[in-house]
Amino acid sequence: MNAPIRNYDIAELRRQDVAHHLPAQADHRLIAEMGGSRIITRAEGCVIHDGDGNAILDGMAGLWCVNVGYGRQELAQAAYDQMLELPYYNTFFKTASPPPIELATKVAGLMGGHLSHVFFNSSGSEANDTIFRLVRHYWKLKGQPSRKIFIGRWNGYHGSTVAGVSLGGMKAMHAQGDLPIPGIEHVMQPYLFGDAFGEDPARFAARAAQAIEDRILQVGPENVAAFIGEPVQGAGGVIIPPDGYWPAVEAICRKYGILLICDEVICGFGRLGQWFGHQHYGVKPDLIAMAKGLSSGYLPISAVGVADHIVAELREKGGDFVHGYTYSGHPTCAAVAIRNLEIMEREKLVERTREDTGPYLAKAFADRLAGHPLVGEARSLGLLGAVEIVAEKGTNRRFGGEEGKAGPVVRDLCIKNGLMVRGIRDTIVCCPPLIISHAQIDELVDILK
Ligand code: PLP
Repeated sequence: MNAPIRNYDIAELRRQDVAHHLPAQADHRLIAEMGGSRIITRAEGCVIHDGDGNAILDGMAGLWCVNVGYGRQELAQAAYDQMLELPYYNTFFKTASPPPIELATKVAGLMGGHLSHVFFNSSGSEANDTIFRLVRHYWKLKGQPSRKIFIGRWNGYHGSTVAGVSLGGMKAMHAQGDLPIPGIEHVMQPYLFGDAFGEDPARFAARAAQAIEDRILQVGPENVAAFIGEPVQGAGGVIIPPDGYWPAVEAICRKYGILLICDEVICGFGRLGQWFGHQHYGVKPDLIAMAKGLSSGYLPISAVGVADHIVAELREKGGDFVHGYTYSGHPTCAAVAIRNLEIMEREKLVERTREDTGPYLAKAFADRLAGHPLVGEARSLGLLGAVEIVAEKGTNRRFGGEEGKAGPVVRDLCIKNGLMVRGIRDTIVCCPPLIISHAQIDELVDILK
């Protein structure tokens, strides 16, 4: 048990939170009305503790990221050792330090096959910005500069930077800042329950993939650079595409010579029971974005996996790729990520998710939640799950019409009862640490129920 290290004056912290702090992704009027945020002070394993003394089962692994759970001494030790030896150095201008090179080698081994190079950044959003710039640079090098357009999906999430929001398909985010930037198209998401209730899954998979081909033909294949998608859409509401969707998407990309980008920021590092989500679906992307589980959130680090044919083009043509961040390849973050991956391997967290805890969660959902009068669907893949709250059993009818409003209410009730989940419109999503036990999965499902 991870005992408190410091005693905080929570009332004073909440006052300062309102007086001086602007938390991310928040309604700042609401936070002020609440008298400050809920303050999480410490955590161990799968449990977080707030300043009011509540222990809460973390069904979200922080923000979809704490895959190895909280309180890992060896990750603190890895950061400590690296900080003493070389806390920081950059990878600009022909320099590098050992940890990012070692981490790149490790990640290349996990991606396998044709993805053998890695470019580092600090966040998932930055990874997608890197992809955006790299893809456009690549097509210029290839002598096809007209290939500029990216195709993403409505309700996809690729981050909060200008390029990330633009590639993503969150309309509320587009509305703030006059986004997307030009050159980005969005097509339908493969959301069977929400958008095509009752349709045959195979037919729907083909129809959703066809929407991509239709858009390619509409804008001209010679103008399309890449398609980007999350293997399973996370922030959109854990939208698990029907079988056949991803192979069809891959075939369309190949047919028109378009790059396939998988945003693995949530799905990477074991979440779906494979090291990467695209491996579950059996497709071969040209680029992948990864973050979160790479370091289990202990320090900020993200990466872009790059296919050999893209690297070959960079090498053949030469010239600077004038892109990078001060913290690209940060040695301390990379050292922690290496140790994090070692923990995942040692404890077989990917296999465990695939063969044990993932199926256990799916069965618990099926046995104990699917029949609930307010549940329209309870679905999961690996340790990523969603429960659709409906106003009328047997339909997909929401409480609040199109946008729904049950999600936040259920989420708040869950927190009161000791479980952290997230409400996205009328969908409750969960993404627990990969170390979660059967007993904790039971607890998660019982509280939710
Ligand atoms: N891509 C996906 C699929 C994500 O889920 C997220 C964050 O949740 C991001 C990108 C952005 O990552 P970050 O918040 O680290 O910038």
